[in-house]
This record gives sequence, C-alpha cells and structure tokens, in this order.
Amino acid sequence: MDTDVLIVGAGPTGLMLANQLGRRHVRATIIDRHAGPSRETRALGVQARTLEIYAQLGIVDRALELGKRATGANLWAQGRWMARVPLGEAGRHITAYPYVLILGQDDNEKILDERLRDWGLSVQWNTELVGLVQQFGSVAATLKGPDGATRTMAAAWVAGCDGARSSVRALSGITFPGAPYEHVFFIADTEARGSMVPDEVNVYLWRQGFHLFFPMRGTNHWRIVGILPEALRNRDDVNFDAVIPSLRSEAGSGLTVKSCSWFSTYRIQHRSASHFRDRRCFLLGDAAHIHSPVGAQGMNTGLQDAYNLGWKLALVVKGRADPTLLDSYEKERMPVAHRLLNTTDRGFKLVVSDSPLAGLLRVRLLARVMAFAMNRPSIQGRAFGVISQTGIRYRSSRLSQSLGGLPDGTRPREGDRFPWLHLRLEAGGPVRDLFERLDDTRLNLIVIGQPAPSMVELGLDSFLRIHSVPTDRLNDAELARARIPQPSFYLLRPDGHIGLCGVLLDKAAMARYLSERLGLKMS
Ligand SMILES: Cc1cc2nc3c(=O)[nH]c(=O)nc-3n(C[C@H](O)[C@H](O)[C@H](O)COP(=O)(O)OP(=O)(O)OC[C@H]3O[C@@H](n4cnc5c(N)ncnc54)[C@H](O)[C@@H]3O)c2cc1C
Repeated sequence: MDTDVLIVGAGPTGLMLANQLGRRHVRATIIDRHAGPSRETRALGVQARTLEIYAQLGIVDRALELGKRATGANLWAQGRWMARVPLGEAGRHITAYPYVLILGQDDNEKILDERLRDWGLSVQWNTELVGLVQQFGSVAATLKGPDGATRTMAAAWVAGCDGARSSVRALSGITFPGAPYEHVFFIADTEARGSMVPDEVNVYLWRQGFHLFFPMRGTNHWRIVGILPEALRNRDDVNFDAVIPSLRSEAGSGLTVKSCSWFSTYRIQHRSASHFRDRRCFLLGDAAHIHSPVGAQGMNTGLQDAYNLGWKLALVVKGRADPTLLDSYEKERMPVAHRLLNTTDRGFKLVVSDSPLAGLLRVRLLARVMAFAMNRPSIQGRAFGVISQTGIRYRSSRLSQSLGGLPDGTRPREGDRFPWLHLRLEAGGPVRDLFERLDDTRLNLIVIGQPAPSMVELGLDSFLRIHSVPTDRLNDAELARARIPQPSFYLLRPDGHIGLCGVLLDKAAMARYLSERLGLKMS
C-alpha cells in the first residue's frame, strides 16, 4: 500500500482532514491539481464551532490574530437601521468564541497548511486525480503529475475533498442532484465609508435583493456580497463600477468607495451528493454539498465533515476499530448537509426573490420580525446555536446512546456537543475551562457527582481521559445552568459529541457501547 489515506484536494476541507490524520500519526497523502495555494478570499466567516476545533488543533490564536471579530449583525431595510443580532451576548455562555471571525478562506488555508508541516505532511501540488478503481482492500488511484505523466497509487482509503466539480464523486458514479439559482452573486473587497456599523456585519435588505457588508482587517475595509441587479445578470463585462448605483440606492447615498481590490461574480447552486461514500471512497465539503452562501456556512461545514471523519478513519487505519465505524460518517453528516441546504435555500429565496410581493415582505415584514425576534434571549440563543454550528447534533446516530434514567428535559443528550463549562475538576482546586481539558485525540469520560473509575478498570489504556467533577457549590451552579443532573456521566467521542450517557457509570454497559457501537477493539 502506498498510502493509508489519499486526500484529493487541498482546499480547507482537505487540509483539515490531513491535519486530523497527521496528528493521529496516520500515513496520509494530500494532492491538489493547482500549482499552489489559492489566493482568493472566497469564504469569509469562521463560526464558533470551527474555532473550537481550531483550538484543539493549536491554531486558534493564529486565526484570532489574523481575523476580525464581528460580535453583532445589523439589519437595515430601505436605508433605515432596523435591528441588531447581538452575537456576543447570545453566545456568551455557549462558547469561548461568541462571534463570527472574519478571516478569508486563503488565510484559513494558510494556517491549516502551516500546521500540516508539524505532522511531516505537505501538499503535493500540480497533481491531479484522473482515475479511480476500487479493488478488494484498496483503491488504485491514477495521478497526473506536473510533467503530465501518470502514475498509479494504491491507497487504503480515498477522501474526495475536491470541491463542487469533484473527480472522486464523478469517478465513483455518485450523482449530485440539485439545481442552479437563477441569480448571480457578486463579491467585492473594498475600502469604503458609509452608514455601516463598524466592525460588525451589516445586512441591507431592499426590494430587489440584499447586500452584505463584512468588516475586514484594517480600517474601512469591507467585503461586499450581493446579487447583481436584474439588468446586469446576463452581461459578461460587469465590473464593480456597474454595481455601485444599486449599492448607493440602499446603503445610502453617503456610501463612498475609495478602492476595490477584488471583484468577482459567480452563479451558485444547491446540490447534495446522493451518497457521501462509495465503499473505500468518501466525499466531504463542497464535493458532497453546495448551497447558497447565506449564513456563511459552506466552508465551516466542510471543515466539520473532515473533523467528523478524521478520528473515525484514524481508528480504523490503526486497526483499533472495525471499519463499520465509518458507516456513521454519512449517517451523521448527510442530515446536517440536508438541513443546511433547506434552511439556506429558504433564507436565500426570501432574500433574493424578484417578485414585488417578496420585495415588500423583505423590507417591511422580515425586517420587523427580525427586530422583534432578536429582542428575545431564547430566540437569540437558538439562532446563535444554528449560525455558530455549536447546535449540530447526532441524536439518531448509532453512535449515540443513553442508558436511561436521566430526568426528562435535561440537557445535553446523546449525540449533542457537550456544552462549554467552567468547573472545578478537583476538590478545592482552580476553576477550569472544560474544553481546554478535553483531548480530542482520545475519548473523554466526564463523571459527575460519583466516584470515577480507574483507567485500569475500564481497560482503555491511554485512549481515554477521565474528568471527575466533584460536588461543590460552584460546580452545582454551573451544572444547573447547563441543565446537567447529578449524578450523571457522559462519555464523549473524540469530536466532543456525547456517545454514551446515563446516571451511574455502568462499566459493563460502557464496554458494550465501545465494542458494539463504536466497534472498538478492546485491549
Ligand atoms: C467566489 C466564491 C465565493 C464564496 N463565498 C463564500 C462565503 O462567503 N461563505 C462560505 O461559507 N462559502 C463561500 N464560498 C464557498 C466556499 O468557498 C466553499 O464552501 C469551500 O471552498 C469548500 O471547501 P472545499 O475544501 O470543500 O473545496 P474547494 O475549496 O473547492 O477545494 C477543492 C480543491 O480540490 C482541488 N481539486 C479538484 N479536483 C481535483 C482533482 N481531480 N485532483 C486534485 N485536486 C483536485 C481543487 O484544485 C481545489 O483546490 C464561496 C465560493 C466561491 C467560488
């Protein structure tokens, strides 16, 4: 076998997967048909859940240093300020990163690529996948190198992180149903002044569509995203000057643009692959699903596909888990993609529809409903959970099990991301950020209000970390806030989602869960 995992595509998704495999000492190869890293900003919003994953990977400080934190989003309708979504306030108890980090896709790729070197991996540029044959126990991949010559590589597994026009998907015969939208987007990186609330996202709704202003690094630097006015849609020669009149008509005549460093137009589609896996080949990121950029979810979803698959693939490659564990990738990630497609599609249709009635609804009703809703803390919290992707859960996955007995209405439940808590992890000791204590290369067992077992008793050697939460006033208050009952226990998968939970830790039930659900080969 030439490599354990061949990763096709070095966009954000492929780079994240390579990092997750590299830090688990898996022999991976990552290729890309381009000559070098992309210089285009493209996606811009990094969501809180991605930042939590970056923290585990040791790159969050670099990302925060390069990016700009947008702690709120402002809604404008027909030039009037209508409402503010207070991201910082809404996410204060949910995550250490209660904002959208504005950091271009090129910078995200750069940081991920730099980290890759720490695992002894680097991208093989100018290398294109052109053929794929699945054999018993391996995949024969044909690669075209920089000189045009082809060679065959035997890989145990192939990860198709090769974007919307995925070769892995096409060569695997997986269909990609969906449709293009009729609208054409434009993107412009500008230096501009106007009514925009500085350092926050500004959404301008108007009868013919919407414009989004994202704050970028530096003063008065804004990424503007919008749909082209109908009259410009079928023209090939559209430049930034052509869209300025429509921008002024709703962002106000006070809008002045000093310069535009990048302008691009693109037509977007909404599609989802009919399967995310064909035997030894997987699809992740844009290769598996593409949707409207409303909500800045695309890049984040790809990164999290890679985070979901990475630990599973590593366990299987290392012979520590049965390959059936990999079945859970599609089962868990496809519903996430479908939900995202549906919500972004509905949101997108509402904000771009050309019909006069929709235009009226947009500037009158939508703006008022949002203004009303965003004054409600419970709605703010739910909206933050969706946008930040901290609310993603896998409750119906085979890997999610509750032993029962937890009172109704308690949270979190099996399949949920375990909440971000501050706890005293030893009697009289300091209060700790639990997420800083979790090790995402292992399973983490959180034992609350009951004696913790020893590692030897559980027979999991170094693959498990145990976190004991003693009863104390501060812990009681923090657990009550998160609606976690005592006593209780939560066995977290490496990606921080709850695999098994219950009241009193039952070692036999836990051993059964590990071997029957996770397919772990116990030592
Ligand atoms: C103009 C534009 C603006 C966007 N704006 C936003 C935004 O604001 N917010 C948002 O969330 N998303 C946005 N997106 C979408 C976002 O860029 C994607 O969701 C993200 O790039 C997906 O990452 P990926 O790694 O899955 O795929 P990609 O970034 O597409 O990377 C795929 C890689 O695979 C390589 N590749 C392809 N075929 C082969 C092959 N046969 N062999 C070897 N290598 C191959 C390609 O060269 C490429 O580097 C935008 C996209 C575009 C085009």
